[in-house]
Amino acid sequence: MKVFQCLSQSRGRGCLRILMLLLGVTTLSGCQVLQSIDKGLYDVAEAVTETDRVTGQRALSTANRNQQIALGNQYVDKLLQDEQKQGRKVDSALDTRQYRRLVRIFDRIHPISHLRQERWKPVLIDRDSFNAFTTGGTYIVVHLGLMKQLNDAEVAAVVGHEIAHTVANHVAERQTHQQLSGLTSSSAVRRKGYQAAFTHEREREADRIGILYSALAGFDPYAASRIWQRQYQQQGNARSLFAHDHPVNAERSAEAKAVADKVKQYYRAGKVNPQAHALLDNNTLWQKRSNRHAESAGEGGGVAAILSTAVGVMAEHQQAKQEEYRQAQQAQFVRSVQQSMRLEEQRWLNDRSWQTRWHYTGNLKLHSVVMGIIARDSQGKTYRFVGHHKGVLTPGQRFNVSFMLNKNMTLNQLERMQTQYYLDDALPVR
Ligand SMILES: [Zn+2]
Repeated sequence: MKVFQCLSQSRGRGCLRILMLLLGVTTLSGCQVLQSIDKGLYDVAEAVTETDRVTGQRALSTANRNQQIALGNQYVDKLLQDEQKQGRKVDSALDTRQYRRLVRIFDRIHPISHLRQERWKPVLIDRDSFNAFTTGGTYIVVHLGLMKQLNDAEVAAVVGHEIAHTVANHVAERQTHQQLSGLTSSSAVRRKGYQAAFTHEREREADRIGILYSALAGFDPYAASRIWQRQYQQQGNARSLFAHDHPVNAERSAEAKAVADKVKQYYRAGKVNPQAHALLDNNTLWQKRSNRHAESAGEGGGVAAILSTAVGVMAEHQQAKQEEYRQAQQAQFVRSVQQSMRLEEQRWLNDRSWQTRWHYTGNLKLHSVVMGIIARDSQGKTYRFVGHHKGVLTPGQRFNVSFMLNKNMTLNQLERMQTQYYLDDALPVR
């Protein structure tokens, strides 16, 4: 659907025109010439695209895999050198038990992934934060803090998600996209919100692929959904605070659950699905296209290749713009509702938690209301706490929200900080 929408819009035609001009096809005619033009187009399509490993469709990319690996690994090698210089341990030397655990989980997910033929290596680094990443090469870097917070199935979900970023070529896609943004006249591409939205769509895709990997490798496919549900309880959605390059926690959890509902049929607890490899190409989430161009080079295949690439690029562009708009609308809504939240009272319940009383003076019924507080210490470091209001909030209603301190913070510390309440999230009842 989106594809057709996209082509009918002037920007879509503009993009095709640019491609045609670049290729110099405007002044030529005749069957032979057309054939060679088509061959030329096919070659160009081959040069600037690659076949998506997951769907079999063409995706824009100018980097080849070996270059990607060299570049991506260079980054991680440098990181590891820096860790050593700063006296930080990595892998087994850092935490033997956690590193073994990471390797054991990795060794079940990677062999059923689309990149199983590549030699990959998980790396454990000394950070407390909840994070893991890939750089397009053959490393997956995991923070020790993340390992400590997650159970095996949850770590598997993260490992699957990270491999999926490389499988779906996200690192190279972003680079190509950034190069292209210099060529297009569209100012949208350069906006922060657009860039976040572009990344946002890739995060959703990596979640989907990662959850399928989990199911095929015998890890509970609902684990991803649970991670984001817990993050939501602890950190809310921060919808009003900034442009999101990941889906906000509640939506991410719900989407992960919907994907798990679809792939749970492939899940055999603790066992790799014997059909895993076949299922990668053909499953309830996607069917890989095998015959990607019915016509071959010189017989219309070139035009088809360029068209399908241009259409794909424009669809992605359109999708990112829609997501940027959706996020901006929602953030604007939450900020406007925040004007009608009046703090009436706050009191400590014990030395770890406190309660606030609010009066909602707006005129829309709301649900999924999350109140937040930002605390800033003397070094400028910020901490966020959230409290959830359950059920529907009606106009004029007074309501209580409780907050709890993080494990490693004391009441004394909080009282010495600058604090400010904000509305973290609210959705209108429709
Ligand atoms: Zn990601």
